[in-house]
Amino acid sequence: MISPYQSFGRYPFAHNQEIEKLFWLSELPDLSSFEKKILPFGLGKSYGDSCLNENGVLLDTANLNRFISFDKENGIVRAECGVTLSQVLDLITPHGFFLAATPGTKNITIGGAIGNDVHGKNHHKGGTFGCHVTKFELLRSDGNRIVCSPEENAELFSATIGGLGLTGLITWAEFKVQRVSSEFIKMESIKFYSLEEFFEINEYSNRHFDYTVSWIDTTASGSNLGRGLFSRGNFANASEITQIEQKKNGAIPFIFDYPFINPISVQAFNALYFNKQNNVKEEMIVHYNPFFYPLDAVNNWQLAYGKSGFLQYQFVIPFQNVYNNLKNILEILVNSGLSSFLTVLKQFGEVKSPGIMSFPRPGITLAIDFAMNGRGVLDVLELTDAIVRNAGGVIYPGKDARMSAENFKIFYPQFKEFSEFIDPKFSSSFWRRVTV
Ligand SMILES: Cc1cc2nc3c(=O)[nH]c(=O)nc-3n(C[C@H](O)[C@H](O)[C@H](O)COP(=O)(O)OP(=O)(O)OC[C@H]3O[C@@H](n4cnc5c(N)ncnc54)[C@H](O)[C@@H]3O)c2cc1C
Repeated sequence: MISPYQSFGRYPFAHNQEIEKLFWLSELPDLSSFEKKILPFGLGKSYGDSCLNENGVLLDTANLNRFISFDKENGIVRAECGVTLSQVLDLITPHGFFLAATPGTKNITIGGAIGNDVHGKNHHKGGTFGCHVTKFELLRSDGNRIVCSPEENAELFSATIGGLGLTGLITWAEFKVQRVSSEFIKMESIKFYSLEEFFEINEYSNRHFDYTVSWIDTTASGSNLGRGLFSRGNFANASEITQIEQKKNGAIPFIFDYPFINPISVQAFNALYFNKQNNVKEEMIVHYNPFFYPLDAVNNWQLAYGKSGFLQYQFVIPFQNVYNNLKNILEILVNSGLSSFLTVLKQFGEVKSPGIMSFPRPGITLAIDFAMNGRGVLDVLELTDAIVRNAGGVIYPGKDARMSAENFKIFYPQFKEFSEFIDPKFSSSFWRRVTV
């Protein structure tokens, strides 16, 4: 059985965590009464250790899952912190709204979406989740309940968005949702055969499509390095969905059954997946679920990585430095023989997040999974970290389990300014690891 209080990657494993379940906003515990350090916990869908607190206390927020209000005129939702994006979608889509930003799973909480300031396929147009947060309440360990917004306690507001759960417990939050023309996406999937081609398609797509993301084949090398499938789409209007052809499995990027993960199966999978699409370009109309949340349809796929768990590695490199550095990183990864099924390439746009510590910034981001095989993978990622660092890029804390404290301080020099807002009772395994 999977422990509900580990992270999604199951690496590192956190020992000796005490769990405090929260049920009612009116009956929250006195946070100063805990002897050990505390950390809010959503649904543990972070991959690394930012949601873990070894030898400390986790405040389990999953039962703080009630809506407070929904303004259907202006598209504003107020909800307790443990409400999930899935619950929000059930509430708002019948009224013609959709999330203004969503990650690749809807099984996360509002508190978690703010804590990591999550991003999705429309970052190039809509920014992060935090860009749409209008207000929240923060419970601090001194007992104060502080309402934060861009106007009120603005610094604490900025520190908490992307603040990794360290500034206090978000009890409820209010955020904007966006009007959409239907629940369906008119999407295109385009095959590209090299990194150069990716950049050409990407340039056009980000101007004409609200949602863009690419899967790339990390086993292809030489002139095929960086080949993959580019997926782009916009919400469909009523006339377009008259000819709905929902292709459930197979046709949508990233839906698959995970075979047993080893280098041979990965090699075979990547080639098969790339070649499953016969035409260079395919068009279809699909429901938002398979388009945004394909992995949610595959139960416990992460367990296929075996009992040592896995790492997700995500970085962003600024545009001006991206091409050669990305190529170098891909070459290192291909030559290392490390296996990845799920490698995603995406452009982040200029919309600035309010979060002091937020990860997304203009550039190209790559996210890649590796089975945790010990020193082998860790050594390779040290090499790629150095390239990211020299290229002026950064690594995503919400997915990290291993970046060095030295690199963290270079990636996030604002950590000192941020530290002033950390609640003295709060800490996490991640924070202790990167600030030693
Ligand atoms: C299949 C899959 C796809 C994903 N795709 C993306 C993606 O496209 N983009 C992206 O950005 N991320 C993505 N993620 C990562 C995931 O969206 C984030 O890690 C998210 O923050 C997890 O939310 P959670 O509710 O599980 O929170 P947890 O993982 O439990 O916690 C996340 C952080 O938020 C803090 N926190 C939680 N609740 C509160 C609260 N009430 N008050 C204060 N702090 C709190 C925690 O302390 C922790 O630091 C993906 C994850 C999975 C499993």
